Amino acid sequence: MLKNDTLDSWDRDNFFHPSTHLAQHARGESPSRIITTGSGCHIEDRNGTRLLDAFAGLYCVNVGYGRREISDAIAAQAQELAYYHSYAGHGTEASITLAKMVLDRAPDHMSKVYFGLSGSDANETNIKLVWYYNNILGRPEKKKIISRWRGYHGSGLMTGSLTGLELFHKKFDLPLAQVIHTEAPYFYRREDTSMSEAEFVADCAAKLEAQILDEGPETIAAFIGEPVLGTGGIVPPPEEYWDAIQAVLAKYDILLIADEVVTGFGRLGSMFGSDHYGMRPDIITIAKGLTSAYAPLSGSIISDKVWKVLEQGTDENGPIGHGWTYSAHPIGAAAGVANLKLIDELGLVENAGKTGAYFNAVMREAVGDMAHVGEVRGEGMLCAVEMVKDSEKRQFFDAGEKVGPSIAAALLSEGVIARAMPQGDILGFAPPLCLSQSEADEIAAKTASAIRSVL
Ligand code: PLP
Repeated sequence: MLKNDTLDSWDRDNFFHPSTHLAQHARGESPSRIITTGSGCHIEDRNGTRLLDAFAGLYCVNVGYGRREISDAIAAQAQELAYYHSYAGHGTEASITLAKMVLDRAPDHMSKVYFGLSGSDANETNIKLVWYYNNILGRPEKKKIISRWRGYHGSGLMTGSLTGLELFHKKFDLPLAQVIHTEAPYFYRREDTSMSEAEFVADCAAKLEAQILDEGPETIAAFIGEPVLGTGGIVPPPEEYWDAIQAVLAKYDILLIADEVVTGFGRLGSMFGSDHYGMRPDIITIAKGLTSAYAPLSGSIISDKVWKVLEQGTDENGPIGHGWTYSAHPIGAAAGVANLKLIDELGLVENAGKTGAYFNAVMREAVGDMAHVGEVRGEGMLCAVEMVKDSEKRQFFDAGEKVGPSIAAALLSEGVIARAMPQGDILGFAPPLCLSQSEADEIAAKTASAIRSVL
């Protein structure tokens, strides 16, 4: 084991951390947080401090840490065959088995799954496939993609553009020209507070339709959205939202991509968020919960309707010019197979629904009436606590006074990891799906005490 001082200096001197204030970290102003081990909902850092991870890493370790069923499957696959590619009809038993398992769990109208490595590359794949689809259908002008403000779809060139959060655009010359952003279904932050939920939904749909007509429906290829907005603030949509949006998309022959990187494989208490909200997507993006992050793997689940056109395209043009060296990597696929089996065996989808509802209820009870809590909202194993200066006016603390990061730091010192979300003043919670009621109680009680210690 390296000494702490050595690790700290090697970290500062060599390692480019993603989503980090680089200058502060290099100057040693932000700590090197080095995690060494994990079990269930807990991780331990290099000093032996045990932490309840109420964000499951980056809402991805859905089965919890330390599951031997998955690490043994990874080790066995690595020893048997660490790699072979999947180009030109090649494959492995693990990748073929996982494709079948994913399709068995996906909505009935889905037909095939393409495997990538990250949520970002899966969404890049999706946009390329949508463009290819429209070219094959002889409508090359139908290429623009609509996403929502506050949506998060990754941080590549196209996916960073689809992401509707300023941080991911600033100084990167994004968004790219083919991307249009529309209103988020963020009822709490609606401009006109006299609107009912139904009026707000009708307004979101009307604004979307106006944008489509303004751009020309013949130029709009697809709409991408997370069933529940995640990184943009953990915002479940009003009940009728997806029906209203889908009605507009159907009218103008616009494809729907459901980005289920967070919601896929149980987080909302149903296998997919699409099942939960009655969505009928043309493409579903999956990642995180596919392997519970034991190995990097993502996927694009393609509907019959899109698949038929892709097949037609290759009959006309030859093999599809899209693929990564690591597509359907056997180690990731073996992790995925073991992970999906474990989710079934442990009943984690049901637990996410049941204990998730309990978690949201105890959180509401513990902090809902506190002076600076504007809203507690959530669905399944997702929960957000939105902080405000004045709850009557839904007014933010001034930018410099944002309290979410200080509350997250206070919570950490009490042994619980939550995430101060990147936009707004929101504390986010997305625990592993194996969370118990007593762990939910602990998170809620400690959140209340952390808020009291800061405000
Ligand atoms: N889509 C959604 C909804 C996400 O939450 C994320 C990551 O948090 C991504 C895409 C990007 O996934 P990745 O970080 O694996 O590229």
